[in-house]
Parts: sequence; C-alpha cells; structure tokens
Amino acid sequence: MPPIRIHLSPPHMEPADLAMIQAAFASNWIAPSGPDVDAFEKEFAAKIGVKHATAVSSGTAALHLALRVVGVQPGDEVICSTLTFVASANPIRYLGATPIFIDSDRSTWNLDPALLAAFLETRARLGRVPRALVLVHLYGQSADITPIMELCDRYGVIVVEDAAEALGTTYKGRAPGTFGRCGIFSFNGNKIITTSGGGMLVSNDPELVRQAKFLGTQARDHEEYYQHSQMGYNYRLSNLLAALGRSQLRVLDERVAARRETFERYQTRLANVPGLTFMPEASFGRSSRWLVCVQIDPAVFGMDHESLRIALNEENFESRSVWKPMHMQPLFAGCECIGGEVAEELFLKGLCLPSGSNLALADLERVVAVIRRCAGLG
Ligand SMILES: *Cc1c(COP(=O)(O)O)cnc(C)c1O
Repeated sequence: MPPIRIHLSPPHMEPADLAMIQAAFASNWIAPSGPDVDAFEKEFAAKIGVKHATAVSSGTAALHLALRVVGVQPGDEVICSTLTFVASANPIRYLGATPIFIDSDRSTWNLDPALLAAFLETRARLGRVPRALVLVHLYGQSADITPIMELCDRYGVIVVEDAAEALGTTYKGRAPGTFGRCGIFSFNGNKIITTSGGGMLVSNDPELVRQAKFLGTQARDHEEYYQHSQMGYNYRLSNLLAALGRSQLRVLDERVAARRETFERYQTRLANVPGLTFMPEASFGRSSRWLVCVQIDPAVFGMDHESLRIALNEENFESRSVWKPMHMQPLFAGCECIGGEVAEELFLKGLCLPSGSNLALADLERVVAVIRRCAGLG
C-alpha cells in the first residue's frame, strides 16, 4: 500500500511553476488583472489556435459568460450532453433557461449526432428550435464535431463548446473548443493543467470576447466614475494564478504525452482481464486521455465497479465513478432527455482510475495488481 494516498488526478507542479508565481509576486501585481493575465490569454489562444481568449476564475464562470454573450435569454431552451459534470448544465439555469439533455454515442461517450439530428428535425417542424447547444468533450475525447456543427448551422442553433476536460485534445488536427461560436476551458486542480482554480473563454469573434471580459469585470461603463448599465460579474482570474497558468501551459504537450502513456500502460497490463474494457478512442482525433476510464461488467469481471472502487480505496488509491448523467440528477428532475440508456450504462459500469501525469509507474503497477486480484487473476 502506498504510504500516501494516490489521487485520481492531482496537480503536477515543478520548480518552474513556483518561479513564475514568485516573479508575479515580486512584481506586486497581486490583483485580478496584470501583465500575466494578458500574457496567459495571448499564449493560450496561440497554443490552441484561436484568435481571442479571456481568462476567468473558473470554467463554470467561463460557461456562464459564454452563454450570456451568445444571447441565451430567460425562457430559452439549451441542449446539453447528459453524460457530463454538473457545471456543463448549471450555467443554463443561471440564465433562466431550460436544459434539454441528449444521450451519448457509444463509440465516443459524447453527444450522439444521430439523436441530435432527429430531435432538431422534430423541433424544426414544430417551429421550436432550441437557442443553443452546450457541446461537451468528455474525459479528453472530442465529440464528433463536424456533423454536429452542420446540424446546428442548418437549424440556427448556437454552439458553445465545453472543452473543460479536453485541453490538449485534437479533432481532425484542430483543438476542440475552437469550432463553435465560443468555447470554454477549466484549470481546476484536477484538470490536465491547473491554476488551482481558473478558466478560459475563447472565440474567433473579438466582439464576443470583449463583451465577456466586460461582463466578467463588473460591466463598468467607459466613464471616469463608476457607472453601470448592465449587470456584470466578478469573474476575472488573479494575476498570480495567471502566472501559474503560463508555466503550466508550457508543459501541456508533455502532460498529454504522460497521460497517454499512463493509459497505454494500463491497457497493456489489463488487456486480458475479462469484463474490463477501456473508453474507446474515436478515429477522428487524438484524446488527451485526461482520465483513464474503464467499464466493468460485473457478471464477467466478478464484482461491480463500486466494489472495485472500495477495494482500491482500501489500498489508498482514489478512483471515481463516471459522471452520473444529468437526466438522472434530482437537480434536473422533470427535464427532457432524448435517449439516455447509453449514458446510464456508462455510469452504472464506469470507473475512472488514478490518471495523474505524475503517477509513478510503481503506483500504477500496484493499481493494476489490485484490479487483477479483484478479477480473480491473482
Ligand atoms: C471541470 C469541468 C467544468 C467546470 O470547470 P471549473 O473550473 O471546475 O468551474 C465544466 N465542465 C466540465 C465537463 C468539467 O469537467
């Protein structure tokens, strides 16, 4: 048993990170603005290939601003993937809009384009097309963006991409988050790079990003005194944290490589375990493999995913169930969901294994040994 607990996806810090924070501290830019915020925005936009970016205090804040600047109004309907973290759906409600959930495609675990097509066709006939879609890219894997964008363009649905889990991912060579009207990212402590807490809103539309920045900084009018014509928020990222984001961004490619290597190591060592399968990688892109997710078939494996989670926990390893779909949440009881069986099954069989980019090989081998023992393979 490792003496210290091995977490699911802990922060991965190096001396260069501390040096960046110290430099920002020494400059006395201890504020939610400053040169590191500006530089982080520019460097982030350049890294993922988008024209404009604004740094904010969380991915959730970024999504709230994104939905607001694309024009989501109280009473609107907004489509959202059902298999996701609650932060994909909550901002829809912040704006007084109503979420409609859509099931996953088995080959990507992300939004099923065929279900979306059928749903939009029905709604178009009724003259009730939803305002927008929050398109989630789950666990480092991109959704199948091309057919989804084509459908949304045809029916006039605005696409906002939730790429919080997909920094470092590609779709046909481009970064998810750069295809829709705007996209959001998260730098929460468990994400592939972190500022402890933070987020980014990106878009190729300068006016949209300018408006998001304005609303995220209390929507102060251009007067010498404090005048406000719109309701804003205090969502800006601290300059100290932006400095950390800059050093983290420099090692993003290494972090993706490490996560993919971790995935491959698990896959090699667990390939012949009956009743255990890995989240597939779609052919259209490269997953960052943010988390290593497996499906446990209890009838074949010999125990269910929750018993495996408890067994790992007893050995000081943290694993977690796959996201519980939004249509199964008490919070969203009564909301419409198109399909749902795929997401339910992924949740009921799914487990995320320790996946950190700093996971030592010896610890990974121990996780593998626990899983093999639970499967009766000794
Ligand atoms: C982490 C996450 C968010 C929210 O990001 P925070 O920075 O934690 O607010 C949104 N959507 C998904 C899918 C996430 O995993």
